[in-house]
Amino acid sequence: MNRPELNEDRAAHPEWYDGHYMNVNHPLATKEIEKRTPLNFMTKDEGFAECPECQGYGGWHLIWNAYGEGKHFNRHCSNCNGRGYTQMEPGTEKGCQHEFTTKIKLGNCYYRYVCAKCGTVHDIDSGD
Ligand SMILES: [Zn+2]
Ligand SMILES: [Zn+2]
Repeated sequence: MNRPELNEDRAAHPEWYDGHYMNVNHPLATKEIEKRTPLNFMTKDEGFAECPECQGYGGWHLIWNAYGEGKHFNRHCSNCNGRGYTQMEPGTEKGCQHEFTTKIKLGNCYYRYVCAKCGTVHDIDSGD
């Protein structure tokens, strides 16, 4: 991971990296092989659609075989939590590209994030 050519790549294409790591803009980042099967309740009738960020794949392999044969360096999709499906954007039939702009403190290190577009709520306990 610390090879000189990687450092050059980083310098030439900062948009392909988040700090030290490749991000999903990198041309070598590939989607998961198969799309995710939506969970039972993630139907169109319930207001769910394919995630616009990962197109239903739930994540990317950033570096193939990074840790040996078949053990890839992966990144799961944060828009859908790796599920491949997410709530629709209101007024459309497309999955919402969430904008979690509202942060409400629920407790010690415990926060609720609310999507400004569809109202989806993520409660995240950042304590350890
Ligand atoms: Zn996604
Ligand atoms: Zn949303």
